[in-house]
Amino acid sequence: MSVAYITHRAFALHEMGAHHPEQPARLGAINDRLIASGLDAVLRHHEARPAEREHLLRAHDAAYIDRIFASSPAEGLVWLDGDTAMNPATLEAALYAAGSAVQAVDLVMSGSAAQAFCAVRPPGHHAERARAMGFCFFNNIAIGAAHALAAYGLTRVLIADFDVHHGNGTESIFSGDERVLFCSTFQHPFYPYSGHDSQAPNVVNVPLPALTDGPAFREAVATRWLPVIEAFAPQLIMISAGFDAHIEDEMANLKLSESDYAWVTRRLCEVANRHAEGRIVSTLEGGYALSALGRSVAVHIEALLAGHAAASG
Ligand SMILES: [Zn+2]
Repeated sequence: MSVAYITHRAFALHEMGAHHPEQPARLGAINDRLIASGLDAVLRHHEARPAEREHLLRAHDAAYIDRIFASSPAEGLVWLDGDTAMNPATLEAALYAAGSAVQAVDLVMSGSAAQAFCAVRPPGHHAERARAMGFCFFNNIAIGAAHALAAYGLTRVLIADFDVHHGNGTESIFSGDERVLFCSTFQHPFYPYSGHDSQAPNVVNVPLPALTDGPAFREAVATRWLPVIEAFAPQLIMISAGFDAHIEDEMANLKLSESDYAWVTRRLCEVANRHAEGRIVSTLEGGYALSALGRSVAVHIEALLAGHAAASG
């Protein structure tokens, strides 16, 4: 079994202005790197399906979903917050991005794939039940996790979020829901200025000061995340895979490198192999330095492939 790779051409049409960092070229950089590295040839490619309203309703309020549909412009940009805008193609892209996570859960839960990576935009982890923010409209990973709970009856789903920003939307959607363990590392203090004082028992937040490097990140994951994750024994691992903590990414001020993303992916594969029959669904969040993003996604997928190979002997 290979890693499923889910994407859609609709993602290239969502644009928020010429100089916006969350730009179509991000997925181009990933595709180029996967082809150049030879990884593209070993992935199993899937065209994303759009999310249906019942999928969205598991993570968002009905009135909010209606508002997003009603906000979709016929031309130009409509700004929903200071850095988050819809163009005429955004709604369709957002539906395919959320649908990718649902499809990925279906693929791994049915056994068609051991692992899946969703190369999507817009990202999702800042979107709350009733609020678009931070480049996000629908919370893709929350919609995927909620699908795993509702459609497959899972009772232990891990969401691991190593994006440089706190996944405030995901946390707010699942806070207090003990079927989901949410583990996040993020630069603090930094946008969206949340997560450092969370009290919910199913949330493990690890704020990291600016200039945190790879060894300190690994130490934090090893001591703060992994023991809790091991005790939780997840039936499915989902990853909010943002790569904006990379040292070359000027969005933030952490100092991770490709080897750190490979390391954390390998650790999560080990847990998945012990408890979750290897099942991992990873979905793209941030990552704005194009070359670093392409390289980081490539090592992340390489580690997923290697982790699965290790499990199958
Ligand atoms: Zn981010």
